[in-house]
Amino acid sequence: MGDNIYNEVLIDHNLHPMHLHDLSCATCSNDGLNPTCGDSLSLHLNIENGVIKDGSFTGVGCAISQASTDIMLDLIIGRSTEDALHLKELFSKMINGDISQEEIDELEEAGALQNISKMPARVKCALLGWDTLEKLLKEEGAK
Ligand code: ZN
Repeated sequence: MGDNIYNEVLIDHNLHPMHLHDLSCATCSNDGLNPTCGDSLSLHLNIENGVIKDGSFTGVGCAISQASTDIMLDLIIGRSTEDALHLKELFSKMINGDISQEEIDELEEAGALQNISKMPARVKCALLGWDTLEKLLKEEGAK
């Protein structure tokens, strides 16, 4: 993906975050903190029978953390928790710069964040929502 697409996707999700709101039907929530940047997000999910029916986030953060979390929610709502964890694995691989083109295609719009792998200072911002998701799903799975 070129830099233009990367910028457009980020700007769009930053100006119009679809999932930045409270979630009254949430069945679980978890907080994520990235002190190096000052990003502080809470992730809220409605999980029924192993499927993520709805999700949202609240809190404050930089453009990258907010856009990345918004894109993530677009991708995982309607999927099984297993699929969501698989996508998290792919996203981490991409950010670590170790991913195939097929795997990037699986990440759909989140693939636009690939360039973050070249910006070490922003890696934690891009991963914050995803790390919070993983923590939340593993806690839920352990119940
Ligand atoms: Zn940040």
